[in-house]
Formats: sequence, structure tokens, C-alpha cells
Amino acid sequence: MEIVTLDPHGMCSGVRSAIAKAMSHGGAYCLHQLVHNEIVLGELLALGSVFVDDIEKVPDGATVIFPAHGVTPEVRGRAAAKRLSVVDGTCPFVARAHRAARRFSDAGLPVVVLGDPSHTEVQGILGEIADRRAPRPGEKIGVVSQTTMNADEVAAEVARLREKFDVAGVAGICTATKERQDAVREFDGDAILVLGSRNSANTRRLCEVARCPAYIASNMDDVVKLREEMERYGKVGVTSGASTPERFFESAVGCLRRIPQHVAIIMDGNGRWAQSRGRPRGFGHAAGAGTLMRALGWLGDRGIRYVTVYAFSTENWKRPESEVSGLMGLFSTMLKSKASELVGNQVRLRVAGRRGDLPRPLRDAIADVERRTASFERQLIVCLNYGGRAEIVDAANAAIARGEPVTEETFRRLLYVPDVPDPDLVIRTGGERRTSNFLLWESAYAEYHFTDTLWPDFSERDLDEALGDYSSRDRRKGGLS
Ligand code: SF4
Repeated sequence: MEIVTLDPHGMCSGVRSAIAKAMSHGGAYCLHQLVHNEIVLGELLALGSVFVDDIEKVPDGATVIFPAHGVTPEVRGRAAAKRLSVVDGTCPFVARAHRAARRFSDAGLPVVVLGDPSHTEVQGILGEIADRRAPRPGEKIGVVSQTTMNADEVAAEVARLREKFDVAGVAGICTATKERQDAVREFDGDAILVLGSRNSANTRRLCEVARCPAYIASNMDDVVKLREEMERYGKVGVTSGASTPERFFESAVGCLRRIPQHVAIIMDGNGRWAQSRGRPRGFGHAAGAGTLMRALGWLGDRGIRYVTVYAFSTENWKRPESEVSGLMGLFSTMLKSKASELVGNQVRLRVAGRRGDLPRPLRDAIADVERRTASFERQLIVCLNYGGRAEIVDAANAAIARGEPVTEETFRRLLYVPDVPDPDLVIRTGGERRTSNFLLWESAYAEYHFTDTLWPDFSERDLDEALGDYSSRDRRKGGLS
């Protein structure tokens, strides 16, 4: 399967601007959906934004954000009467459509509005028209369309209107919509995958204008489910709606290109690396922590969504007390010093393992960073006080406590991070060739890549070697090719 990324794709300027305004007013009220994308809305919810469907639900004097696709003049009036502090997210293209409707209306022309009457943008356009009378045959009219309509359909409808009326002007479709639709129309491949939410009008239109079978994927689960279907085609185009985050686009393309979506790493060799330099083992652990932060960047650049690392096993308590307490201190320090980096890079931190045995300050630091990064899509899962057998025992005890027989499916839901997909690739550094009680359940079908490189020396080149090794494997998972 050849994957072709269509340009332009992804967030338009109007959506970017509305999101930036909302992000800088986290915790404010958002009227309607700011933009039609579930990933973005999830992030705003995590920032404390409150979504309301009626301006009257916003407390008097509060801050309200108007959505990218605008509001009616009546809503603006009600916001003023309630003394709301308004942050206007209305896209300039939508504002232009509003102004066109008002101009036609002020000139006394009947205005024909094309679009979905239930959409907030169309309601906003209609709100600008003082006299909504039907035009008489031959009369001069203005035409305004929803900005995200199918450009071909609008052109056909305007041609029909010209047969009956004197069309004085047409306004509406925005440049971002037109350019994305043109790229899809011109694609000469076998199928198109459109990334975006199903309630996004411009996303659905991209499917409508395609000249080959078109599919919508709203999240990575959809992409994974559609991957086999896509592999039936020779050449697949990938595009995305105007409110789809770029990182979702990159992850989806990586998934289709068979870049693993989940890489797990046994970061072995820190102690030996330090000893070979005549330094204490803790020096190696600190160097290994630095390598992990760099590796996270390389993995993110390659569209890998989930990274799990083996940081401290249930067996590691047997190490000298000074090394164990040094490691616990290092974990706390790392969490505190790297929290902003994780937030800046939009990486969600999760910890898997028996955290009840960890020192209290470390548990508090974990909880704090997990809360601050909870809304992000890319994930770093750190296995701390973790053992594969312990995880299975804990899940088995949870199942026994429930008193219900389990299946593989229901048992999986009792593991430490049940919503994270199984790792596709496990990399072990440091020259050993064993699994060492790591992700015993989850890695049942994982590919393994072993390298002699000690973890602090692990480089971008080592990573690409592992990914190249992975992509050359034939992953049948027990089936026949
Ligand atoms: S799709 Fe067009 S109208 Fe809608 S926010 Fe983007 S640029 Fe503005």
C-alpha cells in the first residue's frame, strides 16, 4: 500500500486562532463546540473549560468564548446584557459571510442561504438578515453559503438559481475548505482516508468530493480498525478536516505505514555504562534518564503514540539500599524537573505498577504530573515497582474479588493501563536477550529487538535500526499469510 499525504490538510487558520484564544482562557465558558473535533474538545475540558449550548447558562459577568463558526447578533446582544467578557473565536471567513448577508439584506435584496439550517454558522448568517422573504422570479438576490460546503454543489445550486433570479453576488466558501476539497478531488488513487470528527461538516464534505471510496477516522482506534481495509488498496490518500490536530494526522500516517504505534523499552545497561567510566551506578541512571527524554522526542517525531519504559522492577528492591534510595530520589527529581517538558511536548505520563509501595513524595509527584498531562494523546507509561507476574496476579485477584469468570478480553481490562494497546515492538538494550518479567501479558505478540548498546548510549540511529528491523517482520499473530 502506497500512502500519499494530501496537502493542504489539518487545522486551518480560523480553527488555530479559536483554539489559541480558548487555550489562553482555560476554564472559561465555551458557547457550543468551539471547533468540531473531539480531540481538541477533550483537551479544553481537561483545562477546565465549560461547554454550554445556551448563552443564558453562562453566569453573569463570566468570560465566554464564541465558536469559530460564529453566533447570531441576538446572542451577541444577550452576552452584552449579561455583561459577559467575550472572547470572539469567530473565524474571519465566517465573519465575512455574516457581513455579506447583512450587506445584501441592508440593500433590500432577498438572501438565499445554502447550508445546514441546524448548524450554528447558518443560524448566525440567517440572524444577519432582516427580511427573510422568498424572492420573486427574476428578482435580484444575494446568495450566501455555509463556509464549509461542497464547492461543486454550491456552484451547481448557484447555476440553478441564476435560471430563475438575477444573482447579484455569491459569498461563503472559505479558502481552507476549497483548497482541501480541490486536493481530494484531484487525487487519482484508490481510496481516501479522511481524519476528523464525524460531526465536522468540512470533514464529511471531503468524503463527498472524493472520486474513490472514502473513509472517516475520528481517532486512532478507528485508524487501527480501518488499516486492514486500507491495505486492500494500492494507493491511499490521507487528508484531514480543518479542525484535526497535526499530531493525530502524523500518528495515523505512521500507523498506516506500519510504524509501530506502541514501543516498549527495557532500558538496560545504566550501571555498566557508569562502572566502565569509573563512576557510581547512580551516575549511569542519571545519564539514562537524559537518554529517555531524548528518545521520547525521536519516537514522537516518528509518530509513535505510546512508549512504555521499564524503570524499576519489583525485583529491583533487592539492589543495595543506597542505589534504591538514589533511584527513588532520581524519579522524584525527574518528574518535577521534566513535568513542563512533558506538558510542552503534549505527552501524557502514566505510571504502571504497585505504586502503594513507593515513597509518599514520589507518589505525590506522580499524581501531580499525571493530572497535568491527563488530556494529551501521546503517552509515556513508566513501569515503576512493576513486574509482569505481579500485574497478572493483581488482575487475577481483582477478578476473584468480582466473583465472575473472566475471558481474555475482560481479564485485560483489569491490567494496570487497560486502555493502552499492546506493544508492537519491545526494544532491549544492554546485550541481554530475555524479557525479565516485562509486560508478560501485553507482549504476547510483540516483536523483540535486542541491541548491545548500553541504554545511556542509545541513539537515534539505534532507534531507526530497531524500527527498520520491526518493519521487515511479517506479523501474522498466529494466522496464515
Ligand atoms: S474551515 Fe474555513 S470557515 Fe471554518 S474555521 Fe477554517 S478557515 Fe474558518
